Amino acid sequence: MSDKNPESSTSSTSCPFSISRSLTDSQTVGEENAYANALAQFDNALAHLKIKRGVADTLRYPKRELSVSFPVLMDNNDIKIFRGYRVHHSVVRGPTKGGIRYSPGVTLDEVRALAMWMTWKCALMNLPYGGAKGGVVVDPKLLSQRELERLTRRYATEISLMMGPESDIPAPDVGTNAQVMAWIMDTYSMHRGFSVPAVVTGKPVEIGGSLGRTEATGRGVAVTMLEALRLNGIDPQSATAVVQGFGNVGSVAARMAQEMGLKVIAISSSKGGIVRESGLDPSALARHVEESGSMLGFENADQISNEELLALKCDVLIAAAVENQITSRNADQVKAKIVAEGANGPTTPEADEILNAKGVFIIPDILCNAGGVTVSYLEWVQDLQSFFWPVEEINRKLQNLMLKAFESVMECARNYNVPNREAAQILAIKRISDALIIRGIYP
Ligand code: NAD
Repeated sequence: MSDKNPESSTSSTSCPFSISRSLTDSQTVGEENAYANALAQFDNALAHLKIKRGVADTLRYPKRELSVSFPVLMDNNDIKIFRGYRVHHSVVRGPTKGGIRYSPGVTLDEVRALAMWMTWKCALMNLPYGGAKGGVVVDPKLLSQRELERLTRRYATEISLMMGPESDIPAPDVGTNAQVMAWIMDTYSMHRGFSVPAVVTGKPVEIGGSLGRTEATGRGVAVTMLEALRLNGIDPQSATAVVQGFGNVGSVAARMAQEMGLKVIAISSSKGGIVRESGLDPSALARHVEESGSMLGFENADQISNEELLALKCDVLIAAAVENQITSRNADQVKAKIVAEGANGPTTPEADEILNAKGVFIIPDILCNAGGVTVSYLEWVQDLQSFFWPVEEINRKLQNLMLKAFESVMECARNYNVPNREAAQILAIKRISDALIIRGIYP
């Protein structure tokens, strides 16, 4: 017996499952198309470099893209179809590396942009990787833990064509975490017949994860923020910070900013934020969110919208949520002296121009949030040699690599007389095009 409407989500009597469709592939347009923004930034940097057109075009487009639709058995016996992607942007400097995002807003263009930014980030940090990214169009908060596990194991199987410890090594991003990485590692290992811990990073330490990885991105944000304060002659002990996004990156960056002496006056998540002029305690707020599920009701703090938060007077604005938060619509409202881009792509090219004209010191995403991929690299190296380092060694290596990259971006900005983002991309693109020319064009 067949179901009359193939799109119907109601069960047919002969089939134990019903099929409902949750496929979407809506692409954003205009200023908020992340790939268009990544290309605009690329062209800005390219204008300062003498690179052959064909070499530049090789870096303009992703190396390979996989788009998958796959079924997942839900707890109520429905089968839902999900859409996912994995994009490799460049393999010139080594295997590809990049996170996996679970979010209802995931699009192919977003994944392309994030993969491209990963290529620049790895080259800027001098890590032997190209860039990649993956994503599934899903709100993980709407799934049970069993559903999340089934979705992850199926997605991992679908992209296993693209994944491997020598070819492409995923990591967590928005909506994914160490547990999701553990399921991916286990799925891949089951297919191979033996454990392959180096296939993903950001895993729990019990199965080959690195000490310090969970905090690495936020720690890197804090390291670059401190350098930016020093360079701008601002004493951290009298400085204020505002943090947009209170997930992995934002919560650690907020805690470390407070430990470094800054007063964190406002923090937000997707549901809005809170402000307290006398300073918030990020650790106490994290406990409050853990217990109550939201920032609401945190003692002696007033509610604030994300728009209002971005316009607060402060020394450092840590943008640690998602892309396209500072745009042509609100950039002139930003009063921060320093914008630390903990998120990928939080500032559009149009907003960049406005902030640059105002003299705002931007720590660009590919530098500011590179702590995550840096410790991911250290995790991968530890996995490959099956020899693990203490957290002090990891943090020291992270700090040294971040400071070195920060200094080279500042030097490049001075030499080319360009804003920090252009400087960071100039350095990265030059390294990759040099490697491409040395390798030669196959065959
Ligand atoms: P997460 O899912 O742990 O946290 C995201 C946070 O942002 C949540 O608090 C969420 O509520 C908030 N948020 C989402 N949309 C928002 C909005 N419109 N306004 C305000 N808050 C909003 O994700 P994460 O891992 O912390 O990643 C955050 C950003 O950092 C992303 O751009 C990600 O690509 C980037 N990043 C993450 C890592 C990493 O290691 N996790 C590494 C490099 C870059």
